[in-house]
Amino acid sequence: MMKDGFASLNHPYMKWCSVILPIKGFIENSLIEWESKIVSIVFLPTCNLRCPYCHAPHLVQTPNELESIPVEAVIDKMRQNLGWVDGVVVTGGEPTTHKQLDVFLRLLKELGILVRLDTNGTNPQTLKNLIARNLLDCVAMDIKAPLQKEKYALVSGVPCAIEDIEESIRIIMESGIEYEFRTTVCPSQLDGDDIEDIAMTIQGARRYILQAFRPNHCLGTEMLKVEPYPQEMLRGFASRAGKYVEYCCVRGEEGKVLQRNW
Ligand code: SF4
Repeated sequence: MMKDGFASLNHPYMKWCSVILPIKGFIENSLIEWESKIVSIVFLPTCNLRCPYCHAPHLVQTPNELESIPVEAVIDKMRQNLGWVDGVVVTGGEPTTHKQLDVFLRLLKELGILVRLDTNGTNPQTLKNLIARNLLDCVAMDIKAPLQKEKYALVSGVPCAIEDIEESIRIIMESGIEYEFRTTVCPSQLDGDDIEDIAMTIQGARRYILQAFRPNHCLGTEMLKVEPYPQEMLRGFASRAGKYVEYCCVRGEEGKVLQRNW
């Protein structure tokens, strides 16, 4: 299948895809990014939001200053790792800002591996389309704040269409595929009431993860002075949120990607 299929290195789509989909980061394997799986991670540039706590400011603001990795090099490496890597996480930035994301995901699926998409949920139509075409095995969606216009804009750094966020949540919860919602909890933006509010919005969700804010490499320099919540306090928030969802826990510093090649 792989030799003559869509994901063949000689396929004309491969080089075309490299031109239109600039991959800015690739981690060959991670044991912590997708629970109980060994995965590769692909970082795509640009984002429509400007969250002040964002840890990928270069990727979001000045991606052209970062070198691109050819799609064929990533696919080739993934093919070499078939058999011991379970899947790939496509993250960003915001991957759905790329019109040709579906082409890339299809190349990955042609390898026979699992694919997870990380998204901020601002593009429900793309999400719906990718799920309907069986290009995703899992979606991890950030919910930045309670679904109120002002609050969401504060945490996202730009105005956001709340109805799009609501629609993405609905699509994901009805999709039947694996998913998780997650919120980065920064003391200058969110408190326990906000987390409970978000949990009520996703009532019945399978998995809701709270991520500790970390004051380093932030897009907004004012965030560097913000003291993170103690882990114990985050656990308290998770326990409140856990009343509304099937599973809620805190993922601290140990749960995120610690090394990048950019
Ligand atoms: S943290 Fe915010 S700005 Fe950064 S990539 Fe995610 S959605 Fe975009």
